[in-house]
Amino acid sequence: MSTSDSGFDYDLFVIGAGSGGVRAGRMAAGLGVRVAVAEDLYLGGTCVNVGCVPKKLYVYASHYAEGFEEAKGFGLNADGVSFDWPTLRDHKKDEIGRLNGIYGNLLRNAGCDLIDGRAVITGPHSVEVAGKAYSAERILVATGGWPFVPEFPGSDQVISSNEVFDLEQFPQRVIVVGGGYIAVEFAGIFAGLGAKTELIYRGDMILRGFDEEVRRFTAQEIAKKGVGLNLGVNITRVEKRADGTLCATLDDGRVLEADQILYATGRTPKTAGLGLEAVGVELADNGAIRVNDNFQSSVPSIYAIGDVIDRVQLTPVALAEGMALVRHLYSGGDARVDYELIPTAVFCQPNIGTVGLSEEQARARYAQIKVYCSEFRALKHTLSGSQERTLMKMIVDGDSDRVVGVHMVGAEAGEIIQGIAVALKAGATKAVFDATIGIHPTAAEEFVTMRQVTRN
Ligand code: FAD
Ligand code: NDP
Repeated sequence: MSTSDSGFDYDLFVIGAGSGGVRAGRMAAGLGVRVAVAEDLYLGGTCVNVGCVPKKLYVYASHYAEGFEEAKGFGLNADGVSFDWPTLRDHKKDEIGRLNGIYGNLLRNAGCDLIDGRAVITGPHSVEVAGKAYSAERILVATGGWPFVPEFPGSDQVISSNEVFDLEQFPQRVIVVGGGYIAVEFAGIFAGLGAKTELIYRGDMILRGFDEEVRRFTAQEIAKKGVGLNLGVNITRVEKRADGTLCATLDDGRVLEADQILYATGRTPKTAGLGLEAVGVELADNGAIRVNDNFQSSVPSIYAIGDVIDRVQLTPVALAEGMALVRHLYSGGDARVDYELIPTAVFCQPNIGTVGLSEEQARARYAQIKVYCSEFRALKHTLSGSQERTLMKMIVDGDSDRVVGVHMVGAEAGEIIQGIAVALKAGATKAVFDATIGIHPTAAEEFVTMRQVTRN
């Protein structure tokens, strides 16, 4: 650590080595900025440790079980297949350990000083970590979020996504509460790995905010894969029996038994105890840091990006925000991030991939729309015996012919929609899709061969 002419220990002090903080810290250091990054839990943040990466590894695991079943239709018999949770969990742990090391090296090699411990902001230009004071011209808060679990009798008996990855034993009976990304993905993981899985959601249909047809189709598909859907209900109480069984009383009077109850009921910005209020940083009611278009808080030297500003809680968005901010602060660029057409996937079984407007949003925005839908059984499943179906959907603005929304529920939807997102970002019209030659035989070719308008 050297003090420059500015009199500060650092030019930029980043709090949090997650998706956004690491990207911003590395990029700034690469431009010659003197950067410190403080982290108190794990390098790589939520995504690497208790989010995207271990989740996707568990999703892969959960697909194998049905893969073995489906292989029989192709003449491959894998009898006597068994699942060993400790193997999966511990291999995952090793891989995450490897990634933690890579993240540390990336930061150090870029020239960042890594500071181990919990940071507290003590002034507009000062931070304290483990009893040591640091000064910085600018402070970047990239502290992410934390699972929210509502309080009710017995809520101390349930787990969140923080705990679910490293369970001592694989639960044979699981209740998953929530209807968002994490709940739907984990219901698929547990059911795929053989647990009796019940999803409990307070609303009338899972995945609020997604296209209505996609929501209904997904619910039907995940139910086929063995997830028990309990809609319009909530847990009022959880009690633990002497044998360890958890008994969940629902508000419709039913009592469900489980070995684990996972609450996936949203995440709140991690700002408590950071010292923000004391230095005058304005927070929203849920604790999110309020920032302007330049990611600057109400205290001009303090900036924030990622989940802690509660705009779009996705890793690629935190990365984009980090890069935009560094460009703006240190290379005279624009800090604006384009939040239009952010593609996203829900890694349930089958996946949802989506970009752009839902049919409902498009109807509200455009005078006339054309909807193209296709629902079919994928070629693979003509032999596999699986009853899984695929849904593909395109929404077109009738006036400009621009494709304004594309949705898919089916195998590898996330992989397919990434490419489609590029086309939409480039402003592709339906005529451009129609003029594109397909790749045969794939499911994706359907997106360039849908000719018949399903509804206007
Ligand atoms: P984080 O990655 O949360 O990083 C914040 C870091 O700050 C943490 O390491 C934390 O320990 C540290 N920190 C907090 N306070 C302090 C302090 N006072 N001092 C020092 N350090 C501190 N997104 C996707 O795009 N795709 C997915 O498939 C996906 N799956 C997910 C699955 C799960 C189960 C979860 C929970 C999330 C998932 N997400 C996914 C969301 C994604 O993980 C987040 O959007 C992303 O990690 C946000 O990055 P961030 O930098 O804002 O915060
Ligand atoms: P979400 O906001 O997606 O979903 C939360 C769910 O919990 C909603 O269905 C909500 O219901 C319900 N809920 C909220 N409060 C309560 C309550 N008190 N009682 C009962 N139910 C409640 O959050 P997640 O926790 O699933 O995930 C957090 C974020 O992380 C996601 O929004 C996403 O941005 C990101 N993520 C991304 C993934 C990906 O890209 N594949 C995967 C996992 C996470 P209601 O709809 O009625 O409000």
